[in-house]
Amino acid sequence: MATTPITPSADSKAAPHFPEQVTGMYVLARALKNVGIENVYGLVGIPVTEAAYLIQGQGIRFVGFRHEQQAGMAAATEGFLTKKPGVLMTVSSLGFLNGLTATANATVNCYPMIQISGASDPTMVDMNMGTYEQLDQFNTAKPLVKAVFRCSKAEDIPSAVNRAYRAAVSGRPGGVYIDMTTPALGQVMNREDAEKLFYDPIDLYTPTAPSPEAVERAVGIITSAKRPAILLGKGAAYAQVDDKIKTLVEKYNIPYLPMSMAKGLMPDDGPLSALSCRSTIMEKADVVIVAGARLNWMLSFGKGKWSPDIKFVQLDVEPQEIDVNRPIAAPVIGDLGLSLDAILAGMEGKTMSTDAAWLPALQAETKAKGVKFAARIDDAKSAMPMTHWTALGAIKPILAANPDVILVNEGANTLDDTRDAISMSLPRHRVDCATWAIMGMGMGSTIGAAVATGKSVVAIEGDSAFGFSGMDFSTACRFNLPVTVVIFNN
Ligand code: ADP
Repeated sequence: MATTPITPSADSKAAPHFPEQVTGMYVLARALKNVGIENVYGLVGIPVTEAAYLIQGQGIRFVGFRHEQQAGMAAATEGFLTKKPGVLMTVSSLGFLNGLTATANATVNCYPMIQISGASDPTMVDMNMGTYEQLDQFNTAKPLVKAVFRCSKAEDIPSAVNRAYRAAVSGRPGGVYIDMTTPALGQVMNREDAEKLFYDPIDLYTPTAPSPEAVERAVGIITSAKRPAILLGKGAAYAQVDDKIKTLVEKYNIPYLPMSMAKGLMPDDGPLSALSCRSTIMEKADVVIVAGARLNWMLSFGKGKWSPDIKFVQLDVEPQEIDVNRPIAAPVIGDLGLSLDAILAGMEGKTMSTDAAWLPALQAETKAKGVKFAARIDDAKSAMPMTHWTALGAIKPILAANPDVILVNEGANTLDDTRDAISMSLPRHRVDCATWAIMGMGMGSTIGAAVATGKSVVAIEGDSAFGFSGMDFSTACRFNLPVTVVIFNN
């Protein structure tokens, strides 16, 4: 049978066009890059292993941990120190739950953080079909975080990442959860189509300004105070408005009392520091400016020792924080930077009514306590067996000579004694177990602080506390981080 030779047409001579394809994991990696994420902390496994490679392919550092809780503590610490959400990536079920502990802790502490977890196909989870690592992660996370998103298709991912970022940093910062389902991660699409999904979100963070009436009320109360003080919380450290706080304190001679993670925002050893005068301030101050702190259990709920006549001027971004445990005389709701700007502008040209004896009395008390303190450390030098104070006496001068070292601290007595013994002189250089008073943040926060800032970190850990996260010391070694861990084994 005769055959007709096939003559190639002009078209078929050209190389066949197979559009390049990418997966939802690529879309995730690109979406994170698009909002400026520089580090992702996590522990890989099905279904996110390849996502981690693609994240690295975008030039993002992936810090792989031994335990998800520590990876989450690292992400949360990056959030606190940088004002940008730290990102945690976990696998489904147990990995998700381990990480969620840290995300919940971040939410309680007002640290911006995003947990992204691989998740089983929700259509199977919802029908309780007993699929691989089945867990309704979306609804499990919901009550513990600020916002939750579930990506069921790759097209949802860029929007989920952008919105999660905005939710984490807006208003009161906190943890956000993205349920990254297996179908979304594994979805294949043409690269060309994928690239069209990305957009640059406008104003990922919008600071809100306080009302002029609130500012006027606050200024009136502050300037009429006879015995004023300012209480600095970790929200003030987080807000990165160090110069404005310094101006308010120094221009108007207002003594300051820092909460533990606000230590160093103003120097602990500065002339206006009332760090040693907590009880006196509670009992005798007539006006206290509460800047980025909550009147919770750590401040006796604003009751107890606090004078019943005290007037609180509370500067907070979260309106629902006002009147939580006692009525607030002057709430100033807004971003701390804008609130301080407005208060400083309102105080311009006005003078304080401070009693002449108030500041000298606080300074005399500070001096007397300082002498007692020094004697305590001196006495411990030759103590046998060693006490915490012996060890702290050795560490104190080294940290004083290296103020830019970040101090991470947890434990029970180790926490209390270290907080009392080690003075801080720079803002955001102390990270501890914070509002929940937990143990088990040590190695995670140490690694997060070192990765996020590039600075040296010293962790002072109780032996019990170290036990919760000790295995991740190996992570610090693997990444060659400038970290020193001191364990108080009592
Ligand atoms: P501390 O434990 O040091 O007392 P808290 O965690 O109890 O501090 O309180 C921190 C407070 O700071 C929270 O009420 C939070 O809403 C607030 N906050 C966080 N960021 C800002 C900001 N940018 N401006 C104003 N308030 C803020």
